[in-house]
Amino acid sequence: MSDRDQEKTLAEQAPASYECRSCGYVYEPAKGDNKSKVPAGTLFEELPNDWRCPVCGVRKTQFINIGATGAPSGFASNLDYGFGVNRLTPGQKNILIFGSLALAFLLFLSLYGLN
Ligand SMILES: [Zn+2]
Repeated sequence: MSDRDQEKTLAEQAPASYECRSCGYVYEPAKGDNKSKVPAGTLFEELPNDWRCPVCGVRKTQFINIGATGAPSGFASNLDYGFGVNRLTPGQKNILIFGSLALAFLLFLSLYGLN
């Protein structure tokens, strides 16, 4: 019973990730920040006041709370979904380009075959 209670508490208190408004870098408490030697598990609120964005160097005040990254309906998972779609589109374009190239090549070969 106590174990289950603890699990529930942990899920409800999942640490919030913070996104840099300047460059989009996301600080995840579970990962910490290797560049600034911030150990994994450090909450954003616990970061030193002189901590800066490891990517663009802005202050903590430029970060916004985007909620827990592991949350089922969290903003972060929507963000991942968006990136996934963005990655798919150029891939589909490539398939179309290579497909039409292959088709043109086959047409080219068949013309040679006729000669
Ligand atoms: Zn940044």
